[in-house]
Amino acid sequence: MPTFIRIALPVPLRRKYDYVLAPEQPLPPVGSRVRVPFGSREMVGFVTANDITPEIEASQLREVITVSDSEPLWPEPLWKLLLWAASYYHHPLGEVLVHAAPIAIKQGEPPNYTLVRRYHLSSEGEAAEVASLQRAKKQQQLFAALKRGPMSAAAIRQQEFSSAALKALQDKGLVEAQDCKPSFKPWGGELCEQPHALNKEQAVAVGAILGSVNDAKANVWLLEGVTGSGKTEVYLQVMAEVLAAGKQVLVLVPEIGLTPQTVARFRNRFQAPVVVLHSGLSDQERLQGWLQARDGHAGIVLGTRSAIFTPMKNLGLLILDEEHDSSFKQQEGFRYNARDLAIKRAHLEGFGVILGSATPSLESLANARSKRYAHLTLGKRAGSALPVKSGVIDLKSQRLHNGLSDQLLTVMQKHLDAGNQVLLFLNRRGFASALLCHECGWISDCHRCQANMTVHQQSHTLQCHHCGAQRRIPRQCQSCGSTQLITRGIGTEQLEQAIQERFPNYPAIRIDRDSTRKKGQLEDYLEAVARGDYRILIGTQMLAKGHHFPDVTLVSLLDVDGALFSADFRAAERIAQLYVQVSGRAGRASKKGSVLLQTHHPEHPLIQELIQNGYKDFAQSALLEREQAMLPPYAAMALFRAEAIDKPAAEALLQVISDKLHASMSSEIPEVTVIGPMPAPLARRAGRFRYQLLLHAAARAPLHGLLQQCLPELENLAEARKARWTLDIDPQEFI
Ligand code: ADP
Ligand code: ZN
Ligand code: ZN
Repeated sequence: MPTFIRIALPVPLRRKYDYVLAPEQPLPPVGSRVRVPFGSREMVGFVTANDITPEIEASQLREVITVSDSEPLWPEPLWKLLLWAASYYHHPLGEVLVHAAPIAIKQGEPPNYTLVRRYHLSSEGEAAEVASLQRAKKQQQLFAALKRGPMSAAAIRQQEFSSAALKALQDKGLVEAQDCKPSFKPWGGELCEQPHALNKEQAVAVGAILGSVNDAKANVWLLEGVTGSGKTEVYLQVMAEVLAAGKQVLVLVPEIGLTPQTVARFRNRFQAPVVVLHSGLSDQERLQGWLQARDGHAGIVLGTRSAIFTPMKNLGLLILDEEHDSSFKQQEGFRYNARDLAIKRAHLEGFGVILGSATPSLESLANARSKRYAHLTLGKRAGSALPVKSGVIDLKSQRLHNGLSDQLLTVMQKHLDAGNQVLLFLNRRGFASALLCHECGWISDCHRCQANMTVHQQSHTLQCHHCGAQRRIPRQCQSCGSTQLITRGIGTEQLEQAIQERFPNYPAIRIDRDSTRKKGQLEDYLEAVARGDYRILIGTQMLAKGHHFPDVTLVSLLDVDGALFSADFRAAERIAQLYVQVSGRAGRASKKGSVLLQTHHPEHPLIQELIQNGYKDFAQSALLEREQAMLPPYAAMALFRAEAIDKPAAEALLQVISDKLHASMSSEIPEVTVIGPMPAPLARRAGRFRYQLLLHAAARAPLHGLLQQCLPELENLAEARKARWTLDIDPQEFI
């Protein structure tokens, strides 16, 4: 009797595919790979069931080309997490698995360690005397070393033995090479440096976590600590205990740009090996890190959101730093939230989770309120750092100099004259947000998006930040031919120019995506700032996170008014987090810091709440508002998006989806509300029209039940030939 298997393929369809094994092929276990023919191509698929009864006529099934693995790729609980993720996010399992595995695995390569070349004496070499090489000193030295034991190629290089001598010894038949698996040292919780003596708040937090961190239970601690309060020190001291118990630690951070500092702190503290999974690695390096994590050779694994899928032999603790950060949510393809998956994984695998932030997400705060998470707070800055003083500058009817008020310029001058650094925060790169004709009102819009093109003076281009389109800055209006072109909206390039003119004696540096494109440039700039080479820092979002600027005593947010009146219900939360994070850059050492917010709306309740009472109070009122408005975290949402070259096609597709959803809701009072279709806020991008359909429910279960029921039908819609739809569960952005 032939054997049949069922596999998931990395294709956009949710169905599984059945294949037949050739008689000589071994039975591949669930969670391993096979190579199969698919259409006219070959593909790597993942076995989801073996020894099945096929769904279609057995004679029509195609044969597996090769069985790639004899073992499952993922340990059992992680495999369960992947299955759960596919079903929760209603995403095809094959695509989920491909996303979760290193590229080398998805390409079908064997999950093997790179072998290391080692040299040892041949039997002839064992018999020979060191003295017999008297006439060749270099060969003699190496030969003597090898007499003491085999050496790796790396060790031979490190000890500066000559490679010519090595070759000569091999040619003489005295030395032989062998490729073997790398050896890894066992590790524990040994420290390489003395930890800080904890302050009272830190000690309470560490004590609370250590009480049950090694219980193999899914305990979750929300560690809310103002910037500089010593959260990292809390992590380090908890990690020491977990490592000492022989368990591994997984650390997730929002951006790999932040990791060098963190990695250095881990390496300085612990002897246990640290594996960093980042996008700069080659496919093979990534695979090696993945294997070391899976087999327990790595004590600490550090990575960004996709590292949540790293298999770990004995995971004891997961730390998710800056847990509020939106980059933990993948915004395209398989749209998962690493923070939510971390909690689910903890339940499946049995380990503790620390969520750390100065500005926790409202979701996590709601979980802390309902006692699902334990809430720990660090309210004071660690060491000698002083708290930050905040203020507002009312811009109404003030004269502005390239976005800077007189009042701000005066304060800047004071801080600079006192020998300190100033950080100006403006979240708009480029020179200006648009080019405008002064005679006819023509504006530099993107031909492919419903958006203006940004003026970039340095590269003499207009750039669309949505689709990447570029063209040269025109000399004349493209509508009336006038040469009277003016810019509107100030970007970081323009600010830099204005600052240099205004403060010629204080060197300024601009740090944004444009100025740091070259590899290593950001690190160079940050070092130069730390050395004091620059006194004024101008930056975007990039500067808001994680970096330490001990000599910055004044931080100013130049323009956040746009966000105050956004249609996105999360905009207020984001702006509050940004404000607090940016403020945290000031006065990290023993100098007192100030933060100044420029706004036309100083009376706005959000601004009042933040400045007068801080993030905690803001979060409290925001949660109340969300509860009253029945918005997440007090409701569940899912968003269908559709795109098409042809505008009606996108809308029609979502209309059909909406009709099908409605038809599936039987009860008189539906538990799920379907809103739309409506045009997306960015109604056209890269030549495609965009529509949205929002699903809203008081609870998750009915929403997911409805999707579960309808999705198989939605995959084969005739309307989907001219338009494409995607589904986003727990959407974070509504652009
Ligand atoms: P956070 O992660 O909360 O922003 P860090 O852990 O980076 O804060 O700590 C801020 C600074 O305070 C660091 O330079 C750290 O070495 C120092 N620090 C932390 N805890 C202590 C302590 N208990 N005593 C003295 N200095 C500390
Ligand atoms: Zn014109
Ligand atoms: Zn565009």
